[in-house]
Amino acid sequence: MGVRDGLNVVILGPPGAGKGTQAERLARTRRLPKISTGDILREAVQTGTELGRAAQATMEAGNLVGDDVMIGIVRERLDRDDARCGFVLDGFPRTVFQARALDRMVDGRGPLIVLDVVVPEEILVLRLAGRRICSRCGSNAAPEWTVACGKCAGALVNRVDDGAEIVRERLKVYHQQTKPLVDYYSGRRSFFSIDGDQAPDSVMGLVGEAIEAATRRATL
Ligand SMILES: [Zn+2]
Repeated sequence: MGVRDGLNVVILGPPGAGKGTQAERLARTRRLPKISTGDILREAVQTGTELGRAAQATMEAGNLVGDDVMIGIVRERLDRDDARCGFVLDGFPRTVFQARALDRMVDGRGPLIVLDVVVPEEILVLRLAGRRICSRCGSNAAPEWTVACGKCAGALVNRVDDGAEIVRERLKVYHQQTKPLVDYYSGRRSFFSIDGDQAPDSVMGLVGEAIEAATRRATL
């Protein structure tokens, strides 16, 4: 990377993949701003910028904020001083249109590193709907109980409820929306698929390795 290149990171991943946690830790350790679209939308609305007012009117009408407004708000955020050395983006881009706009925004600022946190659907359903109970004593399973009840060592079973169906539907929508985005990025040398089906510390280790690899590749 050139001396003026920043560390520009996008984290993709379905709900339940833990990407928010990873984005936060990465931002903290690298001293970069973590930019989540939820946060900057709220901020833009609060400070009443022109784009913020446009977003507010859209949301009050019960509509989703469109690509153009979203792109404008992200551009304003990336133009701020604290993002000069890079950023960790969480929740943007969501569409290929937004991804193209982001490519233009970071043009000349160094490579865009895209990390796709991948977790098998069954695990996501467990995490999100994830109500496991002990088949013997009926206790609700704590997250750290992997196979057996922490109280009586009984086998843990999934409590089947319609929560799981709702979660599956959410994941289906996510994958439909995100597939084109992953296709858009996946051929790049700075795209990394991260195995998110592990403890947060291990995932963080993989994130660090991917960033080192991307940095090395960029200097070749
Ligand atoms: Zn038990």
